Amino acid sequence: MDALGPTVLVVNSGSSSLKYELFSMEPRRSLLEGEIEGIGGSDDDYTTAMERVFDALAEAGVLGDSCELTAIGHRVVHGGDAFADPVLIDDETVERIRRLALFAPLHIGANLAGISAARAVCPGIPHVAVFDTAFHRTLPEYAREYALPRALAREHGIRRYGFHGTSHEYVARQAALLLGKPIEELNLITLHLGNGASVTAIRGGQSVDTSMGMTPLEGLVMGTRCGDVDPAVPLLIRELTDLSREDVHRVLNNESGLKGLCGERDMREVHKLVDAGDPDAALALEMFCYRAKKYIGAYCAVLGSVDAVVFTAGIGENDPDVRARVCEGLEMFGIAVDPQRNTAPASGPRPISPDGAPTAVLVIPTDEEAEIARLTYDCLTEE
Ligand code: ADP
Repeated sequence: MDALGPTVLVVNSGSSSLKYELFSMEPRRSLLEGEIEGIGGSDDDYTTAMERVFDALAEAGVLGDSCELTAIGHRVVHGGDAFADPVLIDDETVERIRRLALFAPLHIGANLAGISAARAVCPGIPHVAVFDTAFHRTLPEYAREYALPRALAREHGIRRYGFHGTSHEYVARQAALLLGKPIEELNLITLHLGNGASVTAIRGGQSVDTSMGMTPLEGLVMGTRCGDVDPAVPLLIRELTDLSREDVHRVLNNESGLKGLCGERDMREVHKLVDAGDPDAALALEMFCYRAKKYIGAYCAVLGSVDAVVFTAGIGENDPDVRARVCEGLEMFGIAVDPQRNTAPASGPRPISPDGAPTAVLVIPTDEEAEIARLTYDCLTEE
């Protein structure tokens, strides 16, 4: 056991499943990962799920006694104004996170159920909360605020927070390694294109603008989320239809995006429909790529010069057609994709731009769990 050194268990507790991954930290390597599915009915589900996690760790022989762990790192989707950094969890932290539930009721409820189950099953070790919003704490005020009445916005914390922070931060660091330059010297645009999707402008390692806002609904076209719409649209939908507030929320979050446009939320299925000549799917694909391209153009203007555009997550890592469409016509910004590199079968971090291109285009697999493990461990050692 000693040979493992410090170990961090990362827990990502969602509304229907609990994902976990165990890391040995010096140097960091993944020892075991898994997912407990079909939970979310009650808080007891999460306790049973955590017990099953420790059974799995014991069965795999990676840990003798569950509480030999150095720490547990918990993903928490929203830190609001209260949390700009990873934080050690105590009863007061839990209460402060609970107060943010209005921002993301489903997610925060599931995150807290996971935290409470893990603290009950493993009380003797530090638990750390790592927030999806934290990387965007550096957004300048002019990028962070909405042009709403100041008093209203301040009173209720209505502003842009941004999400997918651990992913954007992780791939930015990996991009710096791949480019062989300190992150402080780089301007990057990172595109996390999965079921949820967001783009971030990163100057010198700090997030300076990002496409998601107060909630993960703003920005790109996503699997089931609409992204940017005129803010009057949800109000008008209510006036024009008999949909309730909850119905409109569901339409925008769960029935829009690719799914709303062509019936499929999964990009692989969208491609199949496009290949079969489906015009709705062709439009969905075109809108998805157009919106991403538009954000790249905007963030080129934000950053002034761009060292690399980074694609990550399910679509960003695996879909050369989307990458090519997103970058098409961006030559004026020095952004271009080499067709052979883009389509060559590969899985690791890699450039897909031509040699000597002014802006590198990179594919970098994300690893949010590894980043949460790092941030958790850093939080302990900084105490
Ligand atoms: P999340 O973590 O947000 O649930 P992922 O990062 O796993 O999502 O990304 C899911 C998306 O990635 C889906 O739209 C899926 O179709 C897409 N995807 C996964 N593999 C491929 C592939 N080989 N080609 C195109 N799209 C893919």
